Amino acid sequence: MNPRRGADHGKFGATGFLNLARRLHLLTSTQLQEPDSMNWLVVTDLDGTLLDATYPVAQAAAAIDAIAGGRRGVPVVLASSKTLSEMVSIAGRCESNPVLLFENGAGMAWREPALGSRGTFEHAGFQVECTAVPYADICARLELLRRDRAYQFRGFADMTSAELAALTGFELAAAEAAQRRMASEPIEWCGDDESLQRFRQELADMGLCLERGGVFRHVTGNINKQRALLCLINRMRYQTGVRFTTLACGDAPNDLAMLKAADNALVFPHVDGGYLLPEGDGVRHAPKAGPATWLAYVSQVIESAGVEALTI
Ligand SMILES: [Mg+2]
Repeated sequence: MNPRRGADHGKFGATGFLNLARRLHLLTSTQLQEPDSMNWLVVTDLDGTLLDATYPVAQAAAAIDAIAGGRRGVPVVLASSKTLSEMVSIAGRCESNPVLLFENGAGMAWREPALGSRGTFEHAGFQVECTAVPYADICARLELLRRDRAYQFRGFADMTSAELAALTGFELAAAEAAQRRMASEPIEWCGDDESLQRFRQELADMGLCLERGGVFRHVTGNINKQRALLCLINRMRYQTGVRFTTLACGDAPNDLAMLKAADNALVFPHVDGGYLLPEGDGVRHAPKAGPATWLAYVSQVIESAGVEALTI
């Protein structure tokens, strides 16, 4: 055992979110605790960060559990452009209870008793909230722009599941899960850069954002991973009185705001091999994506607070 840990495993003790839940409603916002080096919260992107191209879902779940599970109990938040269905297929394998920020933060999902309140609906054992611009509205506005302005793009709604599977390399079932969208539309841009800028501005005029992920551009309402994370942390802080030291992990432009706002950033190489941020105070580079690398580097960062490094 790392001698710095001692007998106390941190404010979240041995069972992470379970202990967090036990604190619900025990403290008010006027009883906020001071920052504590043990109160880590890890938020991570999936593709290109926790997951590499081989898509090692079982190892990813084990890595999440190694951080969030019994021995450490550090809350883990998964923040991805993936759909709820796609993210549940990973989080459902975890013994711990990661919170899900799906479709670039357009929606949030958690398992009881993580946040102590009920979502607007339940899906596969998760409480779900999604109050962003609905998918049908986004697709309708995109269709309007395509019809009136002749912008050249192809969205997931324009493809059959077989076409999407061929484009992404997904199995057919995975492509179908990726098309089960609630509040964002990934698009493949087929026009030039100049028309892309006009397209971005016209989306903004319609109240929509365009964010670039690892492969696709994503159209959502006025939301992103960072804003969704802030909402989550504020809720957790209000309910528990705990201030978190955040570690954000990501690789693509749609992670940038989250990486910049976090107390610590672990940056993975983008698809072109470059990094979004230079190494420096609070910013570290990981050499490659994947659960083993993710766990080793996340462990190194939080180990500085006296939590033991683990491997899977
Ligand atoms: Mg990514």
